[in-house]
Amino acid sequence: MIDNYRHKGLRKQLVSTVKQKGIKDEAILNAIESIPRHFFMDSSFLEFAYQDKAFPIGSGQTISQPYTVAFQTELLEVKKGDKILEVGTGSGYQACVLVKLGAKVFTIERQRKLYQKTKEFLPKIGYRPKMFYGDGYKGLPTFAPFDKVIITAGAPYVPQDLLDQMNIGGIMVIPEGEGEVQTMKRITKIGESEYKTEEFGSFKFVPLLQNKAND
Ligand code: SAH
Repeated sequence: MIDNYRHKGLRKQLVSTVKQKGIKDEAILNAIESIPRHFFMDSSFLEFAYQDKAFPIGSGQTISQPYTVAFQTELLEVKKGDKILEVGTGSGYQACVLVKLGAKVFTIERQRKLYQKTKEFLPKIGYRPKMFYGDGYKGLPTFAPFDKVIITAGAPYVPQDLLDQMNIGGIMVIPEGEGEVQTMKRITKIGESEYKTEEFGSFKFVPLLQNKAND
């Protein structure tokens, strides 16, 4: 895997695009600048790696658009040492951004093939989030509570198990909606069963699947 001047130049351009779209957090912009996104995609798609677009990664899934990764991450208000649960590991790119920000990352993927591929790949580029094969709707009760929860697939509803696994003061960022379009929501847990919900516009994610994986 090669990360040369051309790749670095393309990443700088990507960072300025994401910045123009409204992302301000310097730590997030630095993470995008330092993580070689082309490593997460098939080498024949290099020219797409640094466009601000989602892209297929196999098993019918996508690596999220860099702007969307940055936007969700900004809403999450990540602090060093935060314990974060990510639902939908996919390529592992979002998980790496969170690791780069100094978080302790736990990530779940429900497609076995993707889980295995990403589990082998991330340590090779020096990133070691804790990765799990399982159902994101159920979260990771054994490792709860979490300071932050980020859902990277379109959820038809907010899973109660995930709310239960959050600390008071914790933040969840979740694209919620039944159809093709979801509303980005930030839910802050302000009491044992008390929440504050804010909305941040429309996004399109692949669905957070409810039935059993066919693999
Ligand atoms: N965060 C990823 C993008 C994820 S795309 C990245 O940075 O590349 C959404 C992912 O959610 C897909 O990989 C999909 O397989 C996974 N997914 C869908 N339903 C799920 C569920 N119920 N539990 C866990 N993961 C799920």
